[in-house]
Amino acid sequence: MSNYRPPVSDLAFVLEHVVGYPEIAEYPGFEHANLDTVVGLLGEAGDFMASAVAPSNRVGDTEGAHREADGSVVTPGPFKHAYKEYVDAGWGAVPFPEEFGGGGFPWTVGLAIQEMLGEANMAFALCPLLTQGAIDALLHYGSDEQKATYLPKMISGEWTGTMNLTEPQAGSDVGALTTRAVPNDDGTFAITGQKIFITFGEHDLSEQIIHLVLARTPGAPEGTKGISCFIVPKFLLNEDGTPGERNGVTCLSIEHKLGIHGSPTCVMEYDGATGYLIGEENLGMRIMFVMMNSARLSVGTQGLALSERAYQGARDYALERHQGLAIGATGKDSAIVEFPDVRRMLLTQKAYIAAMRRLMLFNAVQMDKSKHAPDEQTRVRAAEIVGLLTPICKSFGTDLGNELTSLAIQVYGGMGFIEETGVAQHYRDVRITAIYEGTNGIQAADLVGRKLGVRDGASILELLASMREIDAELAAAGDDYESIRTELTTQLDALQSATEWMLRTARKDPNAILAGSSPYLRMWGLVLGGWLMARSALAAPSAEDREIADTQLVLARFYAEQLLPQAAGLLSASTAGADDLFALTSQQL
Ligand SMILES: Cc1cc2nc3c(=O)[nH]c(=O)nc-3n(C[C@H](O)[C@H](O)[C@H](O)COP(=O)(O)OP(=O)(O)OC[C@H]3O[C@@H](n4cnc5c(N)ncnc54)[C@H](O)[C@@H]3O)c2cc1C
Repeated sequence: MSNYRPPVSDLAFVLEHVVGYPEIAEYPGFEHANLDTVVGLLGEAGDFMASAVAPSNRVGDTEGAHREADGSVVTPGPFKHAYKEYVDAGWGAVPFPEEFGGGGFPWTVGLAIQEMLGEANMAFALCPLLTQGAIDALLHYGSDEQKATYLPKMISGEWTGTMNLTEPQAGSDVGALTTRAVPNDDGTFAITGQKIFITFGEHDLSEQIIHLVLARTPGAPEGTKGISCFIVPKFLLNEDGTPGERNGVTCLSIEHKLGIHGSPTCVMEYDGATGYLIGEENLGMRIMFVMMNSARLSVGTQGLALSERAYQGARDYALERHQGLAIGATGKDSAIVEFPDVRRMLLTQKAYIAAMRRLMLFNAVQMDKSKHAPDEQTRVRAAEIVGLLTPICKSFGTDLGNELTSLAIQVYGGMGFIEETGVAQHYRDVRITAIYEGTNGIQAADLVGRKLGVRDGASILELLASMREIDAELAAAGDDYESIRTELTTQLDALQSATEWMLRTARKDPNAILAGSSPYLRMWGLVLGGWLMARSALAAPSAEDREIADTQLVLARFYAEQLLPQAAGLLSASTAGADDLFALTSQQL
């Protein structure tokens, strides 16, 4: 058993009262996904993650995955059994279409389950996460035959998926990849090249692995315009669709890493492997963009998940550990939770975690709206909001993941630095989330380079204006809400100034907006968090769960008064331009 406690009541509160899930459940096709059903489902998922997955987390870290001499990869002891149970229970299938064996639930529900899976064991959760990316690509761009061949087994989890983008010389710059795809006479392609850092590229959890590989066909244009996407199964399929002869793909080695030791990160060699083109030639980047929104939101959610897991440990420790005497306390000693500074650390974690969960689920609801809302105008606007929120969720969630797991270690004192307590693992595991799926620097560049200018800036300004609408409600809610109202207005003003500067500067000095892009993204994360926390505080009186109802106002006030003001502090870094960054020569740095 583990001490992991799934945050189902908060998830239920957020879905019902903060992010507008009930509207999604009214869309045609989601009749079965009403709130009561979903909350019941999340309860079962949480129990499953706590009992079947969470116990594998620590041993996964200490044992790690390893590669055998024959190129096979063995995952840590309990992973195989946990994965079988995960597949048997059908958790991976919940948010995918029923026609391929999925549960037909909204993506929002899938993300809430994913949060708990990540909390239970992030390294293990990466296998379903990468499979989800491959499923997304096939759902949108696969032929009917490809969908029928691969999707049912991938959605059930019997087969897993990978995403093969990175090569030694092609990291953030995917366009630099050189893996080749040469047409065969039968319409297939021979794929040759080396991919690095491929998550679950080889493993023993499933009978088949479906690799999605980016490669160039002969004569393809340079850069990202000349990339195509191929299905490369580990085993070629027999006539009856079962895995048959081994394809020309092998795992050359696996990496020794700072964290996620249970997740094999593989160097993959493709040696004339048979590949099947998805869509048309040179569509590879477009296919990647389709899956990117959901994959980036999922990675942002990993930041949330590990923050939650580390926080739970820190809170328990703070209640048990006794040191010194707190002001006003009687007796021999006090639990450290009685000291103001420890409370500050715990409340900082709890408030940021609440803000992150609200932000991730708000993004997921917009994603569902963008795909399933009955009227086109709603779909189009929701897609714009998803575009804006995705880089923010990815970066803000994973930066906070790094900061909050570190803060959790601080609560433990010296014991936090000692591996046995387990909190150090969360700190190590979460580090990668700010790097993969597009580094956080690339996310910030995406926000100011691609998303800011949508409709000449009208899209981002409309989002800001819609956030201001909460002011009247906060004013009507009375004195308890006054500081939330005042701070939110101040910080929205700062964000508006930064946004207007970005829009003014974008054309004349693109380097200047890139220079301020990371602090600007952080401002967005902080202010969106404050806005959603204010919504929570306003909704709290109608929550059925007393614990939730009693905590929302305090959390929102703490966030507004003590965390949110950092946004205005970032205004000058956001708008400083690039001059000082380039005032020293590269050698002088
Ligand atoms: C554990 C692990 C698992 C992974 N899983 C997968 C996987 O399953 N599939 C896959 O294809 N890849 C995977 N990756 C690769 C990962 O996505 C890349 O490491 C990541 O995209 C960054 O590329 P890079 O490492 O080459 O860094 P670089 O691109 O060299 O970046 C180095 C630094 O420069 C910055 N930088 C680079 N270009 C720019 C720019 N234009 N503007 C601003 N800053 C810039 C970056 O932000 C970063 O700080 C994984 C990596 C790891 C470590």
